[in-house]
Amino acid sequence: MEKKVIIIGAGPAGLTAGIYTSRGGIKTLLIEKFMPGGNMLMTEKIENYPGFPEGIGGIELAELMKKQVLNSGGEIIQGEVKDVNIGDEKEVILKNGERLKTPALIIASGSSRKKLGVEGEEKLKGKGVSYCAACDGPFFRDKTIAVVGGGDSALEEAIYLTRFASKIYLIHRREEFRASKFLQEKIKEYPKIQPVLSSIVEKIEGENKVESIIVKNIKTGEEERIKVNGVFISIGQKPNVEFLNGKLKADPSGYLIVNENMETSEKGVFACGDVIRKTLYQVITACGEGAIAGWSVEKYLSSL
Ligand code: NAP
Repeated sequence: MEKKVIIIGAGPAGLTAGIYTSRGGIKTLLIEKFMPGGNMLMTEKIENYPGFPEGIGGIELAELMKKQVLNSGGEIIQGEVKDVNIGDEKEVILKNGERLKTPALIIASGSSRKKLGVEGEEKLKGKGVSYCAACDGPFFRDKTIAVVGGGDSALEEAIYLTRFASKIYLIHRREEFRASKFLQEKIKEYPKIQPVLSSIVEKIEGENKVESIIVKNIKTGEEERIKVNGVFISIGQKPNVEFLNGKLKADPSGYLIVNENMETSEKGVFACGDVIRKTLYQVITACGEGAIAGWSVEKYLSSL
């Protein structure tokens, strides 16, 4: 049997897996829906990836990892996976109808931003409602904006957006942020950021662009209309698993269950990065899991 692997997703996990498999002499094909880099592309600067003491741009790190895959002999194509068939041989079906066969498969499809699910969100998406501060921040120079969420992403994004916006309401549904203590202390250094705690956004208003939001204090029940030009939604991620149609074991939120060798519930199918259930979602952990998945594929193919 040909030593071959298909990797779905070219974020840090998939790219690292690709470096390991192609260096291991395995014909490696990565399929990426957008551009190599995954969620790194949405991060202006990564400051906790070792080896870059001053931090490194997310796009720059993605480009370096992509180069390393190509230099190792791996191939990256753009395509959207619609379905997979899992048997002794695996089949990956793309949206354009193409069907690709492989003995080993790595799922590294990552995660996407969750939607808030409030009135006005869908209608004003791209018209002031954004899920990516690094992409859309510069459109809000000297504007008033809201960031919704209380995790690391929301606080990091609020800090990043102080470069552009004149005022930032940081709206969180509880009294305490979920983000690291480091970031909780750091936001205090930015007077432009005004935390609005124990509050939820009920509605995003505007005709052709965002004009205001209705915010409800869940302790007092009071509602307030706040004038804003933009709303950045940063309330966590959901795993990109739709194309698997429930064929692999997952937790109730859809994150794939793997063992320490990154093996999923199906033989010859491995998973790594933000799509798996784990405790720490970081570029460095995604890379570590990608390395293990690549190594496991090598062992699996040799055992056939
Ligand atoms: P997260 O840690 O899951 O935080 C999501 C935040 O959104 C929470 O504060 C949550 O509130 C809030 N939220 C969830 N659903 C909501 C809803 N329907 N309405 C209003 N608020 C809602 O997600 P994340 O910040 O995107 O981070 C994802 C992972 O990446 C985390 O593990 C994080 O540590 C990691 N990360 C790390 C870094 C870093 O190390 N520098 C940077 C970015 C991300 P509750 O707190 O009430 O649940």
